[in-house]
Amino acid sequence: MPALPPATSAPAPAHALPSYLNAEQLGPWGIYLTQIDRVTPYLGTLGKWVETLKRPKRALIVDVPIHLDDGTVAHFEGYRVQHNISRGPGKGGVRFHQDVTLSEVMALAAWMSIKNAAVGVPYGGAKGGIRVDPRQLSEGELQRLTRRYTSEIGLIIGPTKDIPAPDVNTNEKIMAWMMDTYSVNQGITATGVVTGKPITLGGSLGRREATGRGVFTVGVAAAQRINLPVPGARVAVQGFGNVGGIAARLFAEAGARIVAVQDHGGSLCNDQGLDVPALLQHVAHTGSVAGFAGGDAMTAAEFWAAPCDILIPAALEGQITEANARHIQARLVIEGANGPTTPAADDILHDRGVLVVPDVIANAGGVTVSYFEWVQDFSSFFWSEEEINQRLVRIMQDAFSAVWEVAQQHQVSLRTAAYIVACTRILQARDLRGLYP
Ligand code: NAD
Repeated sequence: MPALPPATSAPAPAHALPSYLNAEQLGPWGIYLTQIDRVTPYLGTLGKWVETLKRPKRALIVDVPIHLDDGTVAHFEGYRVQHNISRGPGKGGVRFHQDVTLSEVMALAAWMSIKNAAVGVPYGGAKGGIRVDPRQLSEGELQRLTRRYTSEIGLIIGPTKDIPAPDVNTNEKIMAWMMDTYSVNQGITATGVVTGKPITLGGSLGRREATGRGVFTVGVAAAQRINLPVPGARVAVQGFGNVGGIAARLFAEAGARIVAVQDHGGSLCNDQGLDVPALLQHVAHTGSVAGFAGGDAMTAAEFWAAPCDILIPAALEGQITEANARHIQARLVIEGANGPTTPAADDILHDRGVLVVPDVIANAGGVTVSYFEWVQDFSSFFWSEEEINQRLVRIMQDAFSAVWEVAQQHQVSLRTAAYIVACTRILQARDLRGLYP
């Protein structure tokens, strides 16, 4: 990594809000802006470009009308935000959730810019979403929604422009529909327009497990730095989906005990360690950890205070707050989710000596293997799963080590260190490209 510019003590400038958000709507975008303020003093002369990071390059809002099965027409609001494309095409997932907002998608897109730069994959940051509860839709309605949304954002996505991927409540099947819709509209077969596809459509081996595997890889690296042996460690996991479920399985296979889990349906504990394969099967059949016979139910508050060594938030943003951060028992928090810790909670954990591995490093395994998938699609040459996992582990370990060194050098948190690494890379690209015209 290039030499870092010296830190300055310049005060963080006040934020100019974009006209389409008022202060109450800031939400996760406000959290992101606070994180940028914290890193600004470390950007040296590149700080002159920092405003670039405080506004999305493009934000597209689309109306997504579909025929419901009963013959009526329903309208849904969709978004695709490209936060920054200085280092490469936009890259980031698509979320289907009833609480999706423009502010949230802006923040998620910005976190993708930071993440892609922090691990060094050649992408900018983007994200998309539809404000919908997909559980209320039939399979046919979901397919029509996905296809119409893809067609609407087709103006700005493409294999060299912006490449979507799965996120909360989207999966391989939805990526296949997106790839097909874009391809039909273009009159080509454009496998590289999305990642996280089924293997038969140009997907990559290892992609489904990649984010959880990355969480595990940096988790082990971080545990080593604080002399916390993983075998025997007690692990609590919030969110038992693609990220949390896989991370839990890998930690359990490494000899850790998964002592507490929580998902949208409830919270469970078992001091002896939950049977993770059985719990995964239970979730596959019932949709939630709730009702699993191998653990005791507990409240959400009890989950956050559960005795454990490692906590993995792997559900949604804003979960670790001022209210629960003081009760967390873990020595190590590995952020599987995007933005799970508020800045105030971050400070509390830091003051209490809890090491937080930030989302932009911890969950970068997914986008790293997405990058491998995109490269394989372009070259039409596919790698073995072993090759993919080896390359993934190497990139994650190197990224973690680089961030750890910057944290030591500046005596800052791993989050600020990751932002220093990432923002320096993005703004160097901005500086070298210059301003057009
Ligand atoms: P998923 O849909 O597979 O799983 C989400 C999990 O969160 C489910 O277990 C769900 O029950 C739980 N959940 C939802 N609402 C909750 C609530 N209010 N309280 C507790 N649990 C709740 O999603 P995923 O792909 O595992 O993504 C989880 C997080 O990881 C998101 O923040 C996502 O942005 C992030 N992420 C995902 C990937 C990826 O490759 N899938 C990559 C990077 C980051």
